[in-house]
Amino acid sequence: MNKLEQIAADFCTELMNDTSAKEYLFRMFNADCRCPQCGKTAPDRFETLNAGKKISCASCGKWYSWNSGTPLAGSKLPPSSQLLLLALLGAGTTDESTAMLTGVSEETVRIWRYKMEMEDDA
Ligand SMILES: [Zn+2]
Repeated sequence: MNKLEQIAADFCTELMNDTSAKEYLFRMFNADCRCPQCGKTAPDRFETLNAGKKISCASCGKWYSWNSGTPLAGSKLPPSSQLLLLALLGAGTTDESTAMLTGVSEETVRIWRYKMEMEDDA
């Protein structure tokens, strides 16, 4: 099962708020708090990152946040919308329907699909 299929399987209404959706996505994409620069993990910093703060890598010094280096980095969508979009992709919903249900353009849906394909190849 790839990440999109897992997200579709896990999706439930309890996750449809930004706090829960963000923590779910954080655990799914970067549970070990990996530095996007050097790859060093910092699982003991989960709570700090989950609180929305940045941390400095103990190995290379780079500052990063919970989604740095993940397909979610830089998204302007709120976490609940990100989660819904990913769940719809994982459920095999068409780009047109996914765009309609999440309020983004079909181009945005295609970009997310592409980013997730890159993620699964990594
Ligand atoms: Zn680092």
